[in-house]
Amino acid sequence: MLVNTKDMLINAQKGKYGVAAFNVYSLETVQAAIRVAEQEDTPVIIALGERYFPTVDVEGFAAMVRAMAEKASVPVSLHLDHAYEKESIIRAIRCGFSSVMFDGSTHPLEENIRLTKEITEIAHMAGVSVEAEIGSLAKGAFSDEEEGTGTLTDPESAKAFVEQTGVDFLAAAIGTVHGMYQGEPKIDIELLGRIQQVVDIPLVLHGGSGTPEEKVREAIQSGITKINVNTEVSMAAVSHLQTYFENKDMMHLSTVMEDMQRAMEPVMAKFVRLFAGK
Ligand SMILES: [Zn+2]
Repeated sequence: MLVNTKDMLINAQKGKYGVAAFNVYSLETVQAAIRVAEQEDTPVIIALGERYFPTVDVEGFAAMVRAMAEKASVPVSLHLDHAYEKESIIRAIRCGFSSVMFDGSTHPLEENIRLTKEITEIAHMAGVSVEAEIGSLAKGAFSDEEEGTGTLTDPESAKAFVEQTGVDFLAAAIGTVHGMYQGEPKIDIELLGRIQQVVDIPLVLHGGSGTPEEKVREAIQSGITKINVNTEVSMAAVSHLQTYFENKDMMHLSTVMEDMQRAMEPVMAKFVRLFAGK
């Protein structure tokens, strides 16, 4: 069933488990995410980034995901990931996204608060929940995201930000990166604990790919309810396709796409089970 992301994450907060937010780019990535969630009997978030708006028919895509979510046996929500433009947020709200992320992390704190508050007021009027970010993730290898500064989230700023903007869930920067780590990951669980002490809304971890499993478990125990996963799933699909094309003669595209989906599913299942504490 299609649900509001906020309700899904409040349940996760109470139950101390994490929900996977998979970045999707095609029918196959959506099918893989929902299929895995159904197999593991967990909720799942389908996330489309603003950066794909130029190449994706957003209205058509939203209608497709919503129809698939309604039919699913588990809670599914449709989330707009990393939106920098108000126009994208409005567009997502109009075509039925369950939640939107406004990323004002490139702005100074005061400006981020002002912009996020405005977005939150609009989204809430439409019954759509809002994620925001303070601090900024650095960019690792094979990422398709914008370059960030790697600035960690300051707990007192996070507290003020949440109080003044009314956002529903907050992305905290604690040392994870977008993409794969280059060198040893330095994940600051102690900082996350301090953020959790002063912020009572569900917390979000971007940069699930490559993060050590023990750190993920600790992060969930310290208030993380939504974990974004992008790069590892993309890499599984692409590396599978590379071996596929080396070894086979001309194949039909339908077979290739189906195979790509099958290559993504075990990676998604690994994350879903880890986040669910299985
Ligand atoms: Zn992100």
